[in-house]
Amino acid sequence: MTTTDFTPDTAVIPGPATPYQDDIARYWDQEARPVNLRLGDVDGLYHHHYGIGDVDRDALAGPASGHERRLVAELHRLESAQADLLLDHLGHVPRESLLVDAGCGRGGSMMMAHQRFGCRVEGLTLSAKQAEFANRRAEETEAAAFVHARVRNMLDMPFETGSARASWNNESSMYVDLDDLMGEHARILEVGGRYVTITGCWNPAYGQPSKWVSQINAHFECNIHSRREYLRAMADNRLVPRAIIDLTEATLPYWELRATSALVTGIEEAFLSSYKDGSFQYVLIAADRV
Ligand code: SAH
Repeated sequence: MTTTDFTPDTAVIPGPATPYQDDIARYWDQEARPVNLRLGDVDGLYHHHYGIGDVDRDALAGPASGHERRLVAELHRLESAQADLLLDHLGHVPRESLLVDAGCGRGGSMMMAHQRFGCRVEGLTLSAKQAEFANRRAEETEAAAFVHARVRNMLDMPFETGSARASWNNESSMYVDLDDLMGEHARILEVGGRYVTITGCWNPAYGQPSKWVSQINAHFECNIHSRREYLRAMADNRLVPRAIIDLTEATLPYWELRATSALVTGIEEAFLSSYKDGSFQYVLIAADRV
């Protein structure tokens, strides 16, 4: 596959397939929260996901006037660390591979994947605004021959069966039925390929979704699945987990820091409370396509 094989089909290929997906497309078309844009401005990698790892207190120290700027840079560093961990689990990725970012947002993870592996990365989002944004960033960084986003439904991906070396959902699997999603990843992945998700999920050991989980669902118009549902959907679709990492502890410092920022969105309490009461977990699951 050469790098000129991209189809410039953002406008002609269908995106949303259901009224719900239309709502989600509208949500992300309108999304312009400073907490996402200001963090992306730090180095041009725009994420719509959360962070992991310890806060670097030295990086926050300094005169009061620059505090918010240092805090934004630190939150952004933790969000990029999250994407780095996801990429660590993609396994061996030769340069000629195709990688697929399902629910790619503004494309931060795609850019990082291309920078790391040098290969082609295709992203899908329901939002035309996000796809345009990601493609503009790719052009600005001269990665446009390799990194490309388009408006498509990830339950109906525009890739040949067995064509992808690896694929992922970075905080985008709570918008779809998991059985449909895992079936579609299994279809596009080559045998021996890798699937990775990082997601919040409700904890079956808690019982049912807590009130905090319900609040998060209402805030993002999504439907958080349980850990059990992820593992069941993978098992039913030839995706065999090789790593399941509970990142809940690792994401708490990010949320505690974020809650002190002027950029709070109002959902911080729900995340902190549900992570602490055990009803909600932040997990990475990496699976082999067998
Ligand atoms: N993975 C990105 C963005 C996460 S935000 C990041 O880490 O920054 C959630 C994303 O899921 C949005 O881009 C939204 O458009 C996308 N999404 C939700 N449902 C989708 C669907 N059915 N098909 C394609 N993308 C979808």
